[in-house]
Amino acid sequence: MVVRKKVTRIILIFLKNMNDKINIVWFKKDLRLYDHVPLYEAARLGKVIPLYIVEPDLWRQPDSSQRHWHFVHDSLRDLNSQINQLSGRLLIRVDSAISVLENLINQFRTFTLWSHEETGNAWTFKRDLMVAEWCKKNEILWHEYPSNGIVRRLKSRDIWSKIRDARMAEKVLEKPQLIQFVTNVAGDKLPCKNDPLFNGSILTQTQVGGRKHGIMTLNSFLQDRGRKYLMSISKPGVSARHCSRLSAHITYGTLSVREIEQTIKAKISDLCFSTEEEAKQFVKNLSAFLSRLAWRCHFVQKLEQQPDIETHCMHSAFEGMREPYFRDDYFSAWKTGYTGYPLIDASMRSLIENGWINFRMRAMLVSFASYHLWLDWRKTAPYLAQLFTDYEPGIHYSQFQMQSGVTGINAIRIYNPIKQSLEHDPYGKFIRRYLPELKDVPDIFIHEPWRWPDTLKNYPRPIVDHNIAVKNARYQLAERWKQSDFKDQAKEVHRKLGSRNRFSRRLPKSKKDLRQMELFLD
Ligand SMILES: Cc1cc2nc3c(=O)[nH]c(=O)nc-3n(C[C@H](O)[C@H](O)[C@H](O)COP(=O)(O)OP(=O)(O)OC[C@H]3O[C@@H](n4cnc5c(N)ncnc54)[C@H](O)[C@@H]3O)c2cc1C
Repeated sequence: MVVRKKVTRIILIFLKNMNDKINIVWFKKDLRLYDHVPLYEAARLGKVIPLYIVEPDLWRQPDSSQRHWHFVHDSLRDLNSQINQLSGRLLIRVDSAISVLENLINQFRTFTLWSHEETGNAWTFKRDLMVAEWCKKNEILWHEYPSNGIVRRLKSRDIWSKIRDARMAEKVLEKPQLIQFVTNVAGDKLPCKNDPLFNGSILTQTQVGGRKHGIMTLNSFLQDRGRKYLMSISKPGVSARHCSRLSAHITYGTLSVREIEQTIKAKISDLCFSTEEEAKQFVKNLSAFLSRLAWRCHFVQKLEQQPDIETHCMHSAFEGMREPYFRDDYFSAWKTGYTGYPLIDASMRSLIENGWINFRMRAMLVSFASYHLWLDWRKTAPYLAQLFTDYEPGIHYSQFQMQSGVTGINAIRIYNPIKQSLEHDPYGKFIRRYLPELKDVPDIFIHEPWRWPDTLKNYPRPIVDHNIAVKNARYQLAERWKQSDFKDQAKEVHRKLGSRNRFSRRLPKSKKDLRQMELFLD
């Protein structure tokens, strides 16, 4: 009887301690309360401190920019106001993660740390390894939960999409209704949007952040904008309206991929009852959008599997191919939108102004830098990372490598900027909007203004000749493909990182396949 009483007492003390134990929920790129597994689990177990760390070193990295901070700033304010509604407060600390955790352990003696897994750049990867080490040393439990469709410690790429699909089908978690917040912890002031801490070099406009805006963006896409998704996706003038524009919200996690996917699927189910042509077309558009959401996870999974794709070509045959030929004058013309190719320049200037441009124009900008100007992707990628509000390292570096022809497993796509211009901005509306110096150029010369007999004072002639540059690029690539172990290594890259979708599988098997890879001129 006495023993039983004693055991019961010990269990009660243990439970009380569990309940008293502080749970620190570390918000990273998951700035929401909905569908947030770490928060949900932590709130079930006891007291919660919601924490966001502004890490000065992270914001000094060459791929970060004040534009990203503006979006994060909006999102943090929005997150804090949601936490306020539950009588809590988001704790902001400005310091390195380790210093913040040290400080919290001094105050609370112990705690449990909760977060999502992050598949970020080399800096965040290293920081997470250091935090893991620190937790081990200090006997702190760190619960990390999967983020979207990314699978950590994936055994084989063959099973990835099955795991992702199962995850996307799981129930979307509601925001916890009751959270026991710890509010008596001193925090720092949220740095203002223009604080010099953030790489402030490029900023004009930025998309508004925060969950409220994310939901509004999703709703307007579902109600109206998405109806013309596919027909507008590549048109630089109208894609800004008809693409979902959810990318920055997904990057910073104000919405989860799972909740977006399930919302879209519910809409598709509703539309499927209709026999009207318009409804059928809308289903087609939304289905295409769903595929892209899956691509997103597919690309981020590549970085998760192989973090060095931020700094190394996926296929080593392409190392050293461009580096010795880097030209500052070419880089500078490309960066500022003064290459003499109107669609390239308008796209770059539009991106500088708005922080977003559609997929095709991104691919074309990179193709031009990599093939026409022969610039190494490692120099150009951080610059576009700074410009994209939605910068997501996993997509970014994988796409940069694909569009620069250094993966060894994808078809080479060299965009012809004049052809793109004729197809996607036939009357030069977009071009004239961003290149005011071409406003008087007649329509028939707008894609090749150097052919116009009147002299243009403020706009350069083409920086390189398209045909000569492409010929050189193809020659250089072919030299690499000829290397004796090219195919074996390409197979290995595909085994580890390649898509298992049979339509996108373009692993070269023969000399004929290699020639076909070369023939993809767009
Ligand atoms: C060189 C290059 C770099 C890129 N860098 C980024 C990046 O840093 N961050 C980023 O989110 N996207 C990047 N993309 C992919 C794509 O251009 C953007 O996701 C898209 O333009 C964002 O606009 P949206 O949300 O309106 O897209 P939508 O067309 O509405 O697509 C919906 C979502 O699907 C995903 N998605 C769409 N297209 C792709 C794609 N081709 N690959 C992977 N995921 C896709 C995105 O999460 C997007 O938000 C890059 C593309 C290229 C060619």
